[in-house]
Amino acid sequence: MKVFDEIESEVQSYARAFPRIFNKAQGEYLYDEEGNQYLDFLGGAGTLNYGHNNPIFKEALLEYIQADGITHGLDLHTKAKGEFLESFSEKILKPRNMNYVMQFTGPTGTNAVEAALKIARKYKGRENIISFTNGFHGCSMGALAATGNSHHRGAAGVSMSGITRMPYEGYLGDDIDTTAYLDKVLSDSSSGVDHPAAVMVETVQGEGGINACSVEWLRNLEAVCRKHDVLLIVDDIQAGCGRTGSFFSFEEAGIKPDIVTLSKSLSGYGLPFAVVLMSPELDQWKPGEHNGTFRGNNLAFVTAKAAIDHYWSDDKFAKEVQRKGEYIEQRMSAIVEKYGEGNMTTRGRGMMRGLNCISGDLAGQITKEAFKHGLVIETSGADDQVVKTLCPLTTSDENLKRGLDIVEAAVQKVLKSNDVPEEHDFFADDSDSAEESLAGAA
Ligand SMILES: *Cc1c(COP(=O)(O)O)cnc(C)c1O
Repeated sequence: MKVFDEIESEVQSYARAFPRIFNKAQGEYLYDEEGNQYLDFLGGAGTLNYGHNNPIFKEALLEYIQADGITHGLDLHTKAKGEFLESFSEKILKPRNMNYVMQFTGPTGTNAVEAALKIARKYKGRENIISFTNGFHGCSMGALAATGNSHHRGAAGVSMSGITRMPYEGYLGDDIDTTAYLDKVLSDSSSGVDHPAAVMVETVQGEGGINACSVEWLRNLEAVCRKHDVLLIVDDIQAGCGRTGSFFSFEEAGIKPDIVTLSKSLSGYGLPFAVVLMSPELDQWKPGEHNGTFRGNNLAFVTAKAAIDHYWSDDKFAKEVQRKGEYIEQRMSAIVEKYGEGNMTTRGRGMMRGLNCISGDLAGQITKEAFKHGLVIETSGADDQVVKTLCPLTTSDENLKRGLDIVEAAVQKVLKSNDVPEEHDFFADDSDSAEESLAGAA
C-alpha cells in the first residue's frame, strides 16, 4: 500500500522483513489482507506469550468495555487496578515468597527501565550503573545508555553516561567467570570504575542474541552485588512472564533481585503495560516524581489479571512451557547436528531459543525463506546472526512442530543454495520432516 511509503517514517523495521498488510490474528496465527495464513514465531518480540487475541482475555476485556469500565484513570485507584494487584500478589508474589511493591510506570518497557535506574541511583546516592555486553534495555536515553548495541546507541546524538559495561557470561570465552572480573573491578579503588548503585542484567539476552546465562553465574552475580553493597536489577521484560518456563526468568537460580522490570507479555493481550517491582525499602519516591499520563493501563489490568488467574494459579502452564522448550531445543540441536558443519550452535532457555548461524547473512536468508513458507520468525544478536523463536507459549504441539519443520527446511534449502550438497529438496518430501515427536520431549 502506497501510504506506508508516502508517510510512514523510515524507522520501520519488522515491516520491512514481512512486507504484507496484516489484518487479523488469532492464537499463533497471523493473517494478511489476502487471507494468507502465517504461523507467528515472532510473537510481538515476546509480547504475545499467550497468543494473539486470547479468547479468555478477550471475553474479560469485552465485558469490561461493555460495562463502561474505566479506560483511562491516570494513577487513580480503580477496581480493575485493585483486582490486578490482588491477583498478582496472591498468585505470583506470595507463592514465591517475594516481597515487592509495584510501581506503575509509563506503558513501555523502556520507561520501566528508566524508573528502575532512577530509583536505584536515588536510593544509593550513586550515579554509576553496571550493565552488560549485548544487553538491551530500551531506546529512551537512560535505558539506551545501558543498551549495548551500537546501532541503537548511535541514534542518540548525545553522549550517554552513567553506565559501565561489563562482560556477560561467556563473552570472554567459556572458562572465564566474568563475575570474578566484576568482583575484582569493584574491589579495586584504582579500577577506574565508579562504585555503582546497581547492576542491571537480563537472564536471557533477548535482543542481544538469546544468550542465556547459567544459574551459577546469576548466583555469583548476586553474591558480588551483596558483597559490594550494590543493588541487583533484573530486566525481565522479555524473558519474564513465563517465557523461560517459570513466571520470572530468575526463579531457578533462587536469587532475590532488589528490582525487577516487567512489560511485554505482562498484559497478556499485547496491550501496553509496564511495571517496576522493588523491595519496599527502595520505594523512596515522592508523589509524582516519576510521572506519566499513561501509568497504569486499565484495559491491561483486566487482561493481565485474566492471564494470571488462568495460567498462573498452579504450575501446569509452567510445566507445559518447559516441555515445549525442551522440544524446541531437541529440534534445534538436530538441525545443528545435521546441517551445522561444526559452526552453528543452539542457545536459550525454555521457549526463548535461538539458532546461532554465526553469519547474519545466513540467518537472514533462513528467516526470509521461512517466511515464503508461511512462518514469521526474526533474527537477533549483534550481527542478526541468531534465528530466534518467540512463538506464543500457547502454540499447539502440532504448530510447534510445523514451525520448526519450516525452519529446518529453510536451513537446508539455504545451505544447499549456498552450495552445500544435499540429496533432495526438503519441501518436496514431507515424510522427511523431523521424526522427533513432541511426546518424546516430555
Ligand atoms: C523490549 C525490551 C525493553 C524495552 O521495552 P519497550 O517496550 O520496547 O520500550 C527493555 N528491556 C528488554 C529486556 C526488552 O526486551
